[in-house]
Amino acid sequence: MSPRLFGTNGIRGVVGQDMTVDLALRVGKATGSSLGPGPVALGRDPRTSGPMFRDAVVAGLLATGHDVVDAGMLPTPALQYFVRTGRFAGGVVVTASHNPAEFNGIKVVDAKGMEISRSEEEVIEARYFEERFSLADWKAVGHVREDHDAIRTYLDGIVAGVDAAAIRARKLRVVVDCGNGASCVTSPVLLSRLGCEVVSLNGHPDGGFPGRPPEPVRENLSTLLKLVRESKADLGVAHDGDADRAIFADERGEFVFGDRTLALVAREAVQAKGGTVVTPVSSSRCLEDVVRAAGGTVTYTMVGAPLVARAMYESGATFGGEENGGMIFPEHQFCRDGAMALAKVLEIVTRAGKPMSALLAELPAYSLHKTSVHYPPPERDAILARLKGLAKGLRVNDIDGVKVHYDDGWVLVRPSGTEPIFRIFAEAKTDARAKALAAEGEALLRRAMAG
Ligand code: MG
Repeated sequence: MSPRLFGTNGIRGVVGQDMTVDLALRVGKATGSSLGPGPVALGRDPRTSGPMFRDAVVAGLLATGHDVVDAGMLPTPALQYFVRTGRFAGGVVVTASHNPAEFNGIKVVDAKGMEISRSEEEVIEARYFEERFSLADWKAVGHVREDHDAIRTYLDGIVAGVDAAAIRARKLRVVVDCGNGASCVTSPVLLSRLGCEVVSLNGHPDGGFPGRPPEPVRENLSTLLKLVRESKADLGVAHDGDADRAIFADERGEFVFGDRTLALVAREAVQAKGGTVVTPVSSSRCLEDVVRAAGGTVTYTMVGAPLVARAMYESGATFGGEENGGMIFPEHQFCRDGAMALAKVLEIVTRAGKPMSALLAELPAYSLHKTSVHYPPPERDAILARLKGLAKGLRVNDIDGVKVHYDDGWVLVRPSGTEPIFRIFAEAKTDARAKALAAEGEALLRRAMAG
């Protein structure tokens, strides 16, 4: 197997260890050598190492003769929208998404603003490892300029994609926790433009992420939940570091799992347009229940938002997304978009004319139990093969890892794309049963690890 540079969601690593400035320069050269002719758009999240990696990537791109348009610090989906609506050979985002402050990474998008496909990653990887770069001579070296319109263009696109007049009339009070991430420059402004009364939390960009860790999971959002209750807000929202995800709190300050909002938005999309919803095998059964009830169908993919987006693009799907708060709106663009997810949820709450908790209570309830188990990285494929062997005779979907279906639930055991752990997801009607199914999955995995 040839060496890999890209994980499930771009290149990611700890700054100075596996994520170095030399790597960024070579990725810039390899990417510039692989993209078609035309300028390349560039953006970054607020990480302290961002300017360093930006400059290295830009140097590599310029060396291959591409002009670079630097859109500055902004959410990943804003850069993707900038690429999609402009004339670019592609785009690069310097970001480590939800990872802690010591991480950074590089994401490459194609001329449509979509994360590049695995085969396109392989082209860049081959050039990177073989140091096969198409460098320009001195007369053809690229130029760099800044563009400050990307954020406004992006917000215009979102406001135009929802019933803004209706949302404005409702005058919702919303607490937004930007987590000192890239959404600081978009979501509070978006909420103001949609007539909301905005309570902003961790609203200044800071690459040290002093307010909370960048991943919008419940344990990182206690301040948000408290503030929603105290300010008597209609809802709360939190983004990850690069704001392609949105996680919500209802008006009681209760954390809402991403699969619940995913189902809520999917129901609305299928009721309006019919069609297919695309989601990874790890998603809740709740999604399939509501989509079927609304007359639509669900297509499952491997885990990874870029795979969901590409499947949606190729099949003309109505909607898609993941259980972690990543939602993809095809009429807007083919990538996860945290601000668009926020605007759509505001629209749904507005139209329903009832509190968010009441809306969510209409959805079928399942309990999800998640756990993980570390493994020695070289053993990954052998463990997975033994796991598939052990699962023979059970009702299995092995599109990604091993998902075992039971009459009253399922358990999925799959290796993470970014860490040396197997993730175990189990879902059932009750907590106890979900826990028991997770334990069965873990037992199966431990037998596979024992050899
Ligand atoms: Mg992200």
